[in-house]
Amino acid sequence: EPKAIVIGAGIAGIATAIRLKVRGFEVQVFEANHYPGGKLSEFEQEGYRFDAGPSLFTMPQYVDELFSLAGKNPRDYFNYQQLDTVCEYFYEDGRRFTACADLKDFVRQVKLQTNDTERAATRFAANSRRIYQITSHVFLEKSLHRLSTYLNFKTLWSLLKVLRIDPFRTMHRANKCFFKDVHMTQYADRYATYNGSDPYQAPATLNVIPYLEQHFGAWFPKGGMYAITTSLVKLAEQIGVKFHYSSPVDEVILDGKKAAGVRVQGKSIAADIVVSNMDVWFTYHRLLKNYPDLKPRKILRQERSSSALIFYLGIGKKFPDLDLHNIFFSKDYSAEFNAIWKHKTISSDPTVYVNISSKYKPDDAPDGHENWFVMINVPSDEGQDWNRLIADARVNIIRKLSRILGEDIGSLVTCESILDPRSIEQKTSSFRGSLYGTSSNNRFAAFLRHANRSSKVKNLYFCGGSVHPGGGIPLALLSAKIVSDWIP
Ligand code: FAD
Repeated sequence: EPKAIVIGAGIAGIATAIRLKVRGFEVQVFEANHYPGGKLSEFEQEGYRFDAGPSLFTMPQYVDELFSLAGKNPRDYFNYQQLDTVCEYFYEDGRRFTACADLKDFVRQVKLQTNDTERAATRFAANSRRIYQITSHVFLEKSLHRLSTYLNFKTLWSLLKVLRIDPFRTMHRANKCFFKDVHMTQYADRYATYNGSDPYQAPATLNVIPYLEQHFGAWFPKGGMYAITTSLVKLAEQIGVKFHYSSPVDEVILDGKKAAGVRVQGKSIAADIVVSNMDVWFTYHRLLKNYPDLKPRKILRQERSSSALIFYLGIGKKFPDLDLHNIFFSKDYSAEFNAIWKHKTISSDPTVYVNISSKYKPDDAPDGHENWFVMINVPSDEGQDWNRLIADARVNIIRKLSRILGEDIGSLVTCESILDPRSIEQKTSSFRGSLYGTSSNNRFAAFLRHANRSSKVKNLYFCGGSVHPGGGIPLALLSAKIVSDWIP
């Protein structure tokens, strides 16, 4: 059997391992942490369970596909339920908007709760669908770095339709044209943050994102987000993938211009194929540091996506008005993004996201309590004074939530943990703690991301959120597919 080594048991690394095993490779995964999942992990504290990273699950078909590939019934391993309400939105002026999953309900809700029209909502959704139809099979499902992608009728068809994917305006400009009510513009602009970008810079092509949520649905995995990781690891182990935890890879071993294995804690392990699920920036700077000529300097200099500051709070009360996903918008969205992207700091009025998994999984919190995952978008780490920024942000967040919910939230906190850009980098080796690799603020971002294969080192491949097609669980899973399709 040919031997493959995967560096990192993030969701993309696990998916790649499964695909290669199914293809007949002997697969070993080396993971630096003592647990799998990378960003997609969990922890417990004083009777509460928290999903540490991702909280929104879309496009579950890419998880199911891995079980099917291995000849298993996905439902024997992993289950999920569809959300009727995708998100509850709270605005500073007291307005509320309930984003329903069903398109008809969504459109009706826009008419009932905002000053916009059903027609505007329908046009917005249709535009999103059109962008998906034109882009998905080129930008998401294929490598943009293989000739075969371009020698294809579907690709040529997409390229001819380039104007219809709206690449020349920013998302915000486009959304201002779709909606006349600023509440809806803010709603639509928020989708830029789904891949850590800025709606005031990112191309309107990112308006494809709402379609992914609306058409493929938003879901809650039974057992919480971490069940995605545990069920895939279970499958991988059953089919014979070997996982080595607490085993950081120190170096990729090269034999001339060919990857020949890895060095783990002083020990060399040979392989025919090496796939790095480690952030591509650190793969070059740490694992290939002896080969500075290999570094694709321009690619590695690209702007990183935003990061996050998260307060995991045990809350000693139940809030019936809140749902699984809740957004408390800032008053001035452009000032908030200006603070993040221009001044590399946190606005005094950030948009606050509150995720409460105990709404769907009551045993995630003790009786009468809730587990709040309270997150704001922040810049990636460039050496800011995080301790001060975090202390200020905490005061502003608690004040905002208390005002809008009419409760003294600070006094309800029973326990607390914090994750910030520094600890995100430390725990998962994501350069500068960015959540989604490079940002999509640049119109050409899709083409500028690192490829899934090294152009200079044979048998060296890359998967995960820092390479093509980008960050987020669905795209990280697609990177595994692209890698596996590329390996001869
Ligand atoms: P990672 O999860 O970063 O895994 C990389 C793995 O490699 C880690 O386990 C790391 O320890 C290991 N590693 C690194 N270096 C080495 C080495 N030298 N040797 C061995 N192992 C190594 N996505 C969504 O779809 N929905 C969301 O709601 C969402 N919200 C998010 C919220 C937060 C707070 C965060 C942090 C991310 C969020 N994301 C979300 C993004 C999503 O989590 C990531 O895009 C995805 O999990 C990335 O997976 P990955 O496999 O690329 O990398």
